[in-house]
Amino acid sequence: MLNAFELQKTLVKAAMPSGYESRCGEAIAEIAKPFCDEMWFTPTGSLVCHKKGGGKKLMFAAHMDVIGYIVTNISDNGYLSFTNIGGHNPAASIHTTVTFVNGTRAVVKLKKQGDWAEKPLTSIALTDLYLDIGATSREEAEAMVKVGDLAMFDTEPYLSVGGEIISPYTDDLISCASLLMAMEQVGESENDLYFVFTTQEEMGLKGAITATGCIEPDMGIAIDVCPTGDDLSAGMDIPVAVGNGPTIKIKDGSVICHPKALAFMREAADKAGIKYQDEIILAGGTDTAAMAHTGKGAPAGCMSIPCRNVHSACEVVSVSDVENGAKLLAACAMQTF
Ligand SMILES: [Zn+2]
Repeated sequence: MLNAFELQKTLVKAAMPSGYESRCGEAIAEIAKPFCDEMWFTPTGSLVCHKKGGGKKLMFAAHMDVIGYIVTNISDNGYLSFTNIGGHNPAASIHTTVTFVNGTRAVVKLKKQGDWAEKPLTSIALTDLYLDIGATSREEAEAMVKVGDLAMFDTEPYLSVGGEIISPYTDDLISCASLLMAMEQVGESENDLYFVFTTQEEMGLKGAITATGCIEPDMGIAIDVCPTGDDLSAGMDIPVAVGNGPTIKIKDGSVICHPKALAFMREAADKAGIKYQDEIILAGGTDTAAMAHTGKGAPAGCMSIPCRNVHSACEVVSVSDVENGAKLLAACAMQTF
């Protein structure tokens, strides 16, 4: 039986930033193969796993791209300037380590500009940061890294005593894990099921837009992480907490979930006896919006795994939320609509 933490570790190893997801797609395809009838990659790289059914098309979407850094320039003294792929919190990145695809490691550092102690953390921009790979000249640096090279957080995932996964890229690899676990649990279903692992969500839901165009679902369910209000650092006034169950989204910054999808997901949760949390987040978007508004559109909803420190090198989710999330997704997959 698939295990949430083991899946997260496997997927973190394969993770790549938006636009370069093929390595992660291959890893997911390998795991998903026994649980579907056919699979293919869309022209822009999203992985579609199809479990055939005679009924309506139900599409699930979890994004497999992650945020990252891309080198923009190399200085005479061997330091690297970079920009972001996806949303980064510059202040939270200071003194974290990242690793390039070729294995070169770097420390994220803050340029000295007056006394930072007197400035608010929010005033720190990515352009105030640089990567130190230990090189002392441009030539030395260029032997290791080139403009356009990609770097990612390299924190090792671990399991806390309280059953929490602390890991980079739970956004959204832990949702990919939960969806894979759901696929393993889905038995007979009338629905024509499409489990999609999308690309470039962090760059504006791009993979979900094109995958939805290919599939034209009758209903869509996205799976993503959502911020919580249970932590001193959360700063979001919402009743969502890690460990209290997956959420069923009502609204986020990109979408108002369709009442039909909301009712469908709540009914599946209630019938299966799965405790869920109501989620309204004040900002941010998900693949839900892409499924709702691409082509002719479809009623779309979203299940989230509550997550602390979203978009940092040490995001926190609960194993029980991932497991109960998988049960909820499987219940949805087997419920007709
Ligand atoms: Zn996400």
